[in-house]
Amino acid sequence: MLARLRRIVLEFSQEADLQRALDRLVTQVKRAINTDCCSVYLADYKSQSFLLKASDGLAKDSLGHTAIGFSEGLIGLVGQREEPINIANAQLHPHFKLAPEVKEDDLKAFLGTPIIHQRKVLGILTIQQKQARTFDEDEEAFLVTLSAQLSGAIANAEARGMVGKYSEISPWTKQLTGIAGAAGVALAKAIVCQPDADLANIALIKMPNQQAVEQEKQRFYQAVVKTRADFELLSSQLGNIVSDDSLDIFEMYKHLLTSASLGQEINEEISKGWRAESALKLIIDRYVVQFEALDDIYIRERGSDIRDLGNRILVNLLQAQKQTKDLPESFILVAEEVTASMLAQYQHQGLKAIVSFSGSNNSHAAILARALGVPAIMGVESIPLSQLDQQMMIVDGYSGELFISPNEALQAEYQYLIAEEKALTEQVRTVIDLPCITQDGYSIDLLLNAGLASGFEQSSHCGAQGIGLYRTEIPFMERQSFPTEQEQAKLYQQVLTAFDKQPVTMRTLDVGGDKALPYFPIEEENPFLGWRGIRITLDHPEIFLLQVRAMMRANINTHNLEIMLPMIASVTEVDEAISLINQAYYELCAEFKHKIAKPKVGIMLEVPAVIFQLDKLAERVDFFSVGSNDLTQYLLAVDRNNARVASLYDSYNPAVLNALNMIAQQAKQHSITLSLCGELAGDPAGAILLLAMGYDKLSMNPHNIARIKWIIRHISRQQAQTILTHVLSLNTAKQVHSYLKEQLDQLGFGGFIRAGL
Ligand code: PEP
Ligand code: MG
Repeated sequence: MLARLRRIVLEFSQEADLQRALDRLVTQVKRAINTDCCSVYLADYKSQSFLLKASDGLAKDSLGHTAIGFSEGLIGLVGQREEPINIANAQLHPHFKLAPEVKEDDLKAFLGTPIIHQRKVLGILTIQQKQARTFDEDEEAFLVTLSAQLSGAIANAEARGMVGKYSEISPWTKQLTGIAGAAGVALAKAIVCQPDADLANIALIKMPNQQAVEQEKQRFYQAVVKTRADFELLSSQLGNIVSDDSLDIFEMYKHLLTSASLGQEINEEISKGWRAESALKLIIDRYVVQFEALDDIYIRERGSDIRDLGNRILVNLLQAQKQTKDLPESFILVAEEVTASMLAQYQHQGLKAIVSFSGSNNSHAAILARALGVPAIMGVESIPLSQLDQQMMIVDGYSGELFISPNEALQAEYQYLIAEEKALTEQVRTVIDLPCITQDGYSIDLLLNAGLASGFEQSSHCGAQGIGLYRTEIPFMERQSFPTEQEQAKLYQQVLTAFDKQPVTMRTLDVGGDKALPYFPIEEENPFLGWRGIRITLDHPEIFLLQVRAMMRANINTHNLEIMLPMIASVTEVDEAISLINQAYYELCAEFKHKIAKPKVGIMLEVPAVIFQLDKLAERVDFFSVGSNDLTQYLLAVDRNNARVASLYDSYNPAVLNALNMIAQQAKQHSITLSLCGELAGDPAGAILLLAMGYDKLSMNPHNIARIKWIIRHISRQQAQTILTHVLSLNTAKQVHSYLKEQLDQLGFGGFIRAGL
């Protein structure tokens, strides 16, 4: 049964067309359970009803027409109760509602299970049988498991627009909502960065006019020529290595490519107005279905060869498009997964915003986007990338809303908001060189988070009083092997000299978790709970010693280095790390034949265990810096990168805020300098709360320094403390957010948390 279930789910998710997938599914389930009927109803929230989409057993002409209200009949009951309902004789049930057109008069037994994705009922899967009986436990378990596994695929299909789930703003505007990754708004054309070509992701799109037909045919022809050349090359390269038999497949591909039929059929579809990719998909899908319907296993297998061939042509179609695609003056980058390197590559080429289908608001790509001041939306449900390419879109990085091909009125509205935002940015820039001091004279240091992107030197003029967190892992990540001591020293020296009159806190290597080194792979089931940060460097003292030696060597003239240890979870780790730092220090003194500057050493507070040993830790180090990104993740047991649990990851959760407050109180008791270098510091409300708690320093990305300085200069500490007192009395993150939003609005800071002033 399990193997069968797996196959059904696999085939369902591989089918690009939802209707075809549903049609096949009902037949397979009916057969697997050996019953008389299986049906799927999908929820339509606009009409508040479940629409009968597919059935093997109910009248064919009711498919797509019969709709059952959310509170009607047994189908409505399953949806309302959000649990399976198993009845021996449905027709006797008080909720039974007769829909004569489906012709179910002789079907007595009924089992319905809800299909739920992220707490939302997407539809109902039912089985029915003529004989009056309760379906047994195994059958019920089968259906429940199947529904749970189908839900993701159905949600994806809906997001791809197959069943029209986009909420419509106007006939031309489609709206999707993701996770607000970086504040700001942008309006520009989308440029899609597509690493893997797959026909399954290609949407069927018609060309705007018939004139493009010849051009599309030409594109298709070029792609075929290129694909044929690829096969020639592949088979000649492999010719010496593998047997002739194994090369047959290439011969078959070449033959198919030259055969008149395939090309001709695709050209015919293009003539009907389809784009080349769509025409290719239509024909290849048609062939695959024909092959798969055959009984002969060998011939059936050829279906996947045809699909492979189609994907190879697609690669060349998209490639050719990419080469001819000049970047417009301004654009929004869209990708399945926007990576930090993509951001780095496009940041100076007109990049206005990013949209990433995967990732969450604490993925490093989102952190980098915030650092660059580039609005970002993360974790948008995936829709075919090619459908978005070149489309006009609006990214609202405050709310996470993405508007695709917005109508003129919406464009005009956002243009206005963008202008307002620009004015706000100019306004806050006026405080860059002024002290960071509240209206009642309390001062707090604002420092810079650096190291995620090159070009930090320009940031030396953003109004910060030094670097509070220099992430050293990026230079390690961009290489083919560990950098040498000399190479590291040279790089660190550049940083220390760029900020030579100010403290620079360099963090020792914090790889593991979601940051991997290409030449030092770590395979783990739970990387965030595994070998990460200080755990790796203590196990490899040679790497640690080299790095701290390089840091201290770089500090010879500037004397502004401070060393910070990441992921500390115990006193022992601190003792061991300090002893290695001392060893490196004495070695260097001996080498230079004189005493060199000894840097301050501090630790990051990001593993909850340290909160309960602050007294012992304070005796050993010079400063604490809270890594609120990880502290939130570990306190709440929520993966900071997982879009599925993104709504649970919240630094404004009362548990996190109370922990931060507790840390501040204890740091005061032990008279140890306390800073916070997670994303919370650069958030307007976060900065106000941390100011009230008594944090000495806040470290944030360059983009936020002026904004936070402006806020701090326009509030008194007394006001901040009143807000904090109320916040600490609240029970839920939701209450905290709505209270803080209201307060920021009242204080005139609304423009910092949403589009428009
Ligand atoms: C943090 O965890 O808050 C932090 C600043 O470090 P990173 O985001 O690099 O893990
Ligand atoms: Mg961290």
